[in-house]
Amino acid sequence: MRFDVLTIFPELFASPLQEGILRRALAAGKIAVDLHNIRDYAVDKHRMTDDRPFGGGEGMVMKPEPLAGCLAAVQGDEPGRVVLLTPRGRTYNQQEVARLAGYPRLVLICGRYEGVDERFTRVWVDEQISIGDYILTGGELAAMVLIDSITRLLPGVLGCSQSAENDTFSHGLLKHPQYTRPREFAGIAVPDELLSGNHEEIARYRFIESVRLTLKHRPELLRRVSFAVDEYMLLEQAGLLEAVKRLKKGKENNVQGAA
Ligand code: SAM
Repeated sequence: MRFDVLTIFPELFASPLQEGILRRALAAGKIAVDLHNIRDYAVDKHRMTDDRPFGGGEGMVMKPEPLAGCLAAVQGDEPGRVVLLTPRGRTYNQQEVARLAGYPRLVLICGRYEGVDERFTRVWVDEQISIGDYILTGGELAAMVLIDSITRLLPGVLGCSQSAENDTFSHGLLKHPQYTRPREFAGIAVPDELLSGNHEEIARYRFIESVRLTLKHRPELLRRVSFAVDEYMLLEQAGLLEAVKRLKKGKENNVQGAA
């Protein structure tokens, strides 16, 4: 997977790419990240990448010519999908991560100031992504979020191939609680089921606790989850079935106490 990033602050990417899974993915050739400084494509002698907004108002707007020039130089024969990071974009979630991981090449455009000139967006951008309903100072952290989350879904990147499959959101549920040594800490013992050595019992426990956590923290997620017959039976045994059913019928407020 190849990422090209258009930014006026390429140095911001150095540290995140030099540690942990991203560093290993780069070293193994699973990903390539090419950083392109938009300022190198400025067209005036002061190398300006921004200017005042027509119509007045606060802040500055990123000029279209340096962006378009940089993109033209980067795209080449096998152009990537052009993604603008912007608060107006489609909200990023794990389904979006999986979808974008299907492209061989993404070109990520990082805005700054008050954003980019609308004509650049209209003509050159394939899609717009927001990483949440809040405002960052620039698109670089958002681009890093995409690079990080997409990379860990690529084949062979995570040490244990199951890690991504069982992540929170992968099945529409939050991940079950996890414990490691010691067996007792702060007066709290690791649940017996996890110490039983019985894989079926552990799987049942984890499923129930996933549903319980989702009911408590993100009940709206459960509306979209389809359960198998045996899972409904487990929910009934755990006393969660009515809460899940009510939620699926849209009575979300009634389940808050269920967890
Ligand atoms: N004035 C703009 C507005 O109200 O929509 C916000 C501009 S923001 C200060 C500067 C840049 O940060 C944006 O052009 C965009 O690239 C990036 N950015 C800010 N918040 C973002 C978010 N939630 N998701 C993705 N990118 C974001």
